[in-house]
Amino acid sequence: MRQLIEQQILPRVTKPIRYQGNEFNSVHKDWGKAQVRMAFAFPDLYEVGMSHLGLQILYGLVNDREDLLLERVFAPWTDMEDLLRRHNLPLFSLESYRPLRDFDILGFTLQYEMSFTNILNMLDLAGIPLRAAERSDSFPLVVGGGPCAYNPEPLADFFDFFVIGDAEEVLLEIMDTAKAFKQGPSGRIAKGDFLAEISRVRGIYVPKFYEVSYNASGGIEKIEPVNPRVPAKVVKRVVKDLNTAYFPTKPIVPFADTVHDRVMLEVLRGCTRTCRFCQAGMIYRPVRERDQETLLKQAKELVRNTGHEEISLTSLSTADYSCVQPLITSLMEEFKNEMVGISLPSLRVDAFSVDLAKEIQKVRKTGLTFAPEAGTQRLRDVINKGVTEENLMEAVAGAFAAGWTTIKLYFMIGLPTETKEDVAGIAELAYKVLKKGKEILKEQKSKKSLKVTVSVSSFVPKSHTPFQWVAQDPVVMLQEKQQYLKSLLKDRHITYNYHDARLSFLEAVFAKGDRKLGQVLETAWAKGCKFDSWSEYFKYETWLEAFRECGIDPEFYAYRRPGFEETFPWEHLHTGVSKKYLFEEYQKALQAELTKDCRLDRCPGCGVCGDLNVKLLLQRRGKGGAL
Ligand code: SF4
Repeated sequence: MRQLIEQQILPRVTKPIRYQGNEFNSVHKDWGKAQVRMAFAFPDLYEVGMSHLGLQILYGLVNDREDLLLERVFAPWTDMEDLLRRHNLPLFSLESYRPLRDFDILGFTLQYEMSFTNILNMLDLAGIPLRAAERSDSFPLVVGGGPCAYNPEPLADFFDFFVIGDAEEVLLEIMDTAKAFKQGPSGRIAKGDFLAEISRVRGIYVPKFYEVSYNASGGIEKIEPVNPRVPAKVVKRVVKDLNTAYFPTKPIVPFADTVHDRVMLEVLRGCTRTCRFCQAGMIYRPVRERDQETLLKQAKELVRNTGHEEISLTSLSTADYSCVQPLITSLMEEFKNEMVGISLPSLRVDAFSVDLAKEIQKVRKTGLTFAPEAGTQRLRDVINKGVTEENLMEAVAGAFAAGWTTIKLYFMIGLPTETKEDVAGIAELAYKVLKKGKEILKEQKSKKSLKVTVSVSSFVPKSHTPFQWVAQDPVVMLQEKQQYLKSLLKDRHITYNYHDARLSFLEAVFAKGDRKLGQVLETAWAKGCKFDSWSEYFKYETWLEAFRECGIDPEFYAYRRPGFEETFPWEHLHTGVSKKYLFEEYQKALQAELTKDCRLDRCPGCGVCGDLNVKLLLQRRGKGGAL
């Protein structure tokens, strides 16, 4: 198969490197010697998937074990798909060019709801029946993990099981269990027995062992396990201490022109700033920081093993790392002779972040991005952003003064309680930033040209957040707000981008959806929906047709305002953060009342530390770093 693909298929597709899989540090194991073989599937293109840290972590973790094997597969672009189908070839893994159905386990990472149809497409291309119930033992087990696994119900029919939480905590346990259930001369896994066993492991959710009943209004009455041996609530798995957890210091070096040319050093996991719209802030709690010594050691190994010249300090908010300043100083000192640069992918809206950026960016050609999220203070308080206009103006002034001339501001529209003034506030803020830039450039007698980009997305209510009780704004209303803002942003120095509100609507439907949506996904996929997040492939009308054919109203999921008592489709999956706490946060939002970060203040009792028996792991408390 490899020969056929290399000689006849790859020369005819765009970017053949997406499918070659022979990168530096990729692992090619003896297929025959591995006792459990898993393919890690990313339901988007190679260049998107290869910048995903989770893939690198799991790839290294499994392949470090002699008896196990993990290979990769990405969604093929449509030209590749056409050729595979025309030649009747199945989707294959990058390392061994083996058909996916030869693997024991096929694991999908679920990063974004709008890639769900790509999952079905990949299964179909692999010749694997879509529905779990139709797959005999001769097909791989299909497992999902990642953020969308916290409400995997729209995918429940297609998956055998899901991992809730930090996958590196549980993956080896899963594969060892699989090994124990391999049977017969074909060596396939006895799925029934395996699933019965694995369903009792913490963090594992086997949807077929849970029954969902609905009430007369179409909401959920209850979700119950069908047998007493599986837990009523599946509790997430959590890495308690990142210092002792596995971290790959020999990551695959992707073909350079497709992804960012840098290594990722994860400095901390979790965020407790409590932005009320943010799902990551709730599901990845609590905050766990790596110690500086470990980070320095890992950084040295990463650079030595990859040859990369840039280290990206990754996390949800790296400037919050309590020792960020000393860490950056030691990294810069360590690599000063090797010309290795440091970068921060996420900046907070404050002068401290700008100082950090200044320190690490020798060449200031790239722009800076700040995310005030909302245009007025009232609305920023509603979402608990914890940022004032003063913070923003101070930060941009610092950035302009330090030589940056391109600033990107990121906002959301359609946030709960939003008024016309809040939308107009976005434009006002953009003009203030521009004015500040002009003043500073004038003082510096600089002739450089300024560029302020206002990037606006539409709010999507997500499961496990205080805003899970919120109804999304109707598409037409979001479009009106987008146009209103457009009419206010008329300066040639301001660029205005906004996302397709119809895509955000579907995202909300699947983010809050239940099991009934499985048939819609299958119908939409059969009608040709895939790569939905790529505008050239997004077929909104086809999606609406699929909903109509299935007799399901998508507005029911996106526009309804559920009560506190309502059972959510994800109620049986527990992040450790209590529903009571989330509801209190929602009430506080309506009063524009703030909640402080528990790293700085008392614990407001989200519940995760007690419930999961974990604790905040900070290198330094109190002042210093961002704290
Ligand atoms: S339980 Fe308290 S300390 Fe722990 S993450 Fe939640 S709010 Fe913070």
